[in-house]
Amino acid sequence: MGERVDVGKAGIVGEVIRITPENVVLQVYEDTAGLCVGESVLASGAPLSVELGPGLVGTIYDGIQRPLEQLFHECGNFTICGSSIPALDRSHSWPFEPVAEEGAELQAGAVIGQVQETPAILHHILLPPDVDGRLTWLAQAGSYKVDEVIGRIRLSSGDERELFLHQYWPVRRKRPVAARLTPGVPLITGQRVIDTFFPIAKGGTAAIPGGFGTGKTVTQHNLAKWCDADIIVYIGCGERGNEMAGVLMEFPHLQDPKSGRPLIERTILIANTSNMPVAAREASIYTGITIAEYFRDQGMDVALMADSTSRWAEALREISGRLEEMPAEEGFPAYLPTRVAEFYERAGRVKALGGSEGSVSAIGAVSPPGGDFSEPVTLHTQRFVKAYWALDKALANARFFPAIHPLESYSEYDEDLADWWTEFDPEWLENRHEAMHILMEAERLKRIVRIMGEDGLSQEHRKVLLAEYLIREGFLQQSAFQAKDRYASPQKQTGLLKAIMRTIRAIRGDAAPVSEMAAKYRLDALVRLKEEVASEDAQQLAEWEPEK
Ligand code: ADP
Repeated sequence: MGERVDVGKAGIVGEVIRITPENVVLQVYEDTAGLCVGESVLASGAPLSVELGPGLVGTIYDGIQRPLEQLFHECGNFTICGSSIPALDRSHSWPFEPVAEEGAELQAGAVIGQVQETPAILHHILLPPDVDGRLTWLAQAGSYKVDEVIGRIRLSSGDERELFLHQYWPVRRKRPVAARLTPGVPLITGQRVIDTFFPIAKGGTAAIPGGFGTGKTVTQHNLAKWCDADIIVYIGCGERGNEMAGVLMEFPHLQDPKSGRPLIERTILIANTSNMPVAAREASIYTGITIAEYFRDQGMDVALMADSTSRWAEALREISGRLEEMPAEEGFPAYLPTRVAEFYERAGRVKALGGSEGSVSAIGAVSPPGGDFSEPVTLHTQRFVKAYWALDKALANARFFPAIHPLESYSEYDEDLADWWTEFDPEWLENRHEAMHILMEAERLKRIVRIMGEDGLSQEHRKVLLAEYLIREGFLQQSAFQAKDRYASPQKQTGLLKAIMRTIRAIRGDAAPVSEMAAKYRLDALVRLKEEVASEDAQQLAEWEPEK
């Protein structure tokens, strides 16, 4: 089961998905047009695997890790040919530097050398997770291609094995680790509503459920652009092709706020858009997460975005339907929850076999049909992720972005990360708590207003509504298209929250009527602060005086 096969003259990639005494059932990952009775099937003897090594970064792959640019050169637009194109460029030479000592006894996952893959990425060449023994020979520093032998190792069985810059790993099996660690450092996304209210830890899991047009893709793109991971794996799974094209056009021109280098130099794209074969969509999620685990094993923090996991679940449903399996809820196979859980369980902060610490954070968009969050994919995803950023149709309709609903979203990482933020800003916990309380209180008041009208509100109540307005407009709203505000550093986030909360406290302690507050406390200027003060100038926010 799970063996990779090449079908027919074209060598269409497929996988064994069922074995009966008489038959073997294959799932092929491409269009079957032109395939005829009597074609040969070549069994590879190995499960569906990905090729891991220098050359991954900056490349765009399809769901089974074929480089799309090379496919285009060989086969043209939209024609998908067989499996002949390797994932890593065989003609490129990489500057290899040995790290391990010849003669050393090495554990699985040990670092044997390194390659400067892009100016920002130092690629560690690791022993594969299933190989250990005595290093009998290691190549000297120099230029090597991925399939040139760069070392030899004597295994405990006595056999000798050759080592290359690249290695293979079956996509459906998680790469082993030495230990799993508890998350304690936030993945800074630069999005205020996420980082301050519903944070995700490095190595955490999050879901972004939302109906059509609520901003799932823009949010995923924002995270891919600005989050402080070392490597981004972006899986465009069953979404529109032009959205992937947008990523490709934009990323080379945007700078990573951490390294100042073009974002594409830390990004790996896996494109399986809606016009590409549906079965490869099922595989694309595993291809992506295996690549993410490989960089994690090198001690990097990796963030993986999957847009959208609903389309992936639909691919599961389609394959399961063809196998005539008994359908469960809404036609999805009964093993849908297991598959969703298995995917998110591959995220985590770990101690790798080689000893370094790394993480994979997994963030999946979910597109429930009709925006109904009670459908199976959303519900099961919610069970397995710890941060849940619910996109709200009403907010999106009102062009309030990000449309993450502050009362329907949650994060279970907030306690794990409170220490980190408190060290950063001792007032953070109190400000955040008070702001959240105001949002909830205002929601209750708005219900009263709907019944009794505004006249029923006291001055105190009006101040709560004003405070909520300031938090919503001055802090939560953040346009992805405003140059100074599309990314907010932690300094800017804490500074802005401080300025707003100080003003709110001053207003609540002021006996004057609410109608006088706007002028007295410069509230217009306060809500514009987010767009006028860039992250680099965040110290200005600390100097904000409510009354001037
Ligand atoms: P979905 O993927 O959920 O269908 P999109 O991510 O394509 O939705 O978003 C739809 C539109 O909403 C975008 O074209 C954009 O105009 C707007 N939008 C979404 N998020 C933001 C944001 N953070 N800032 C500004 N506009 C946004």
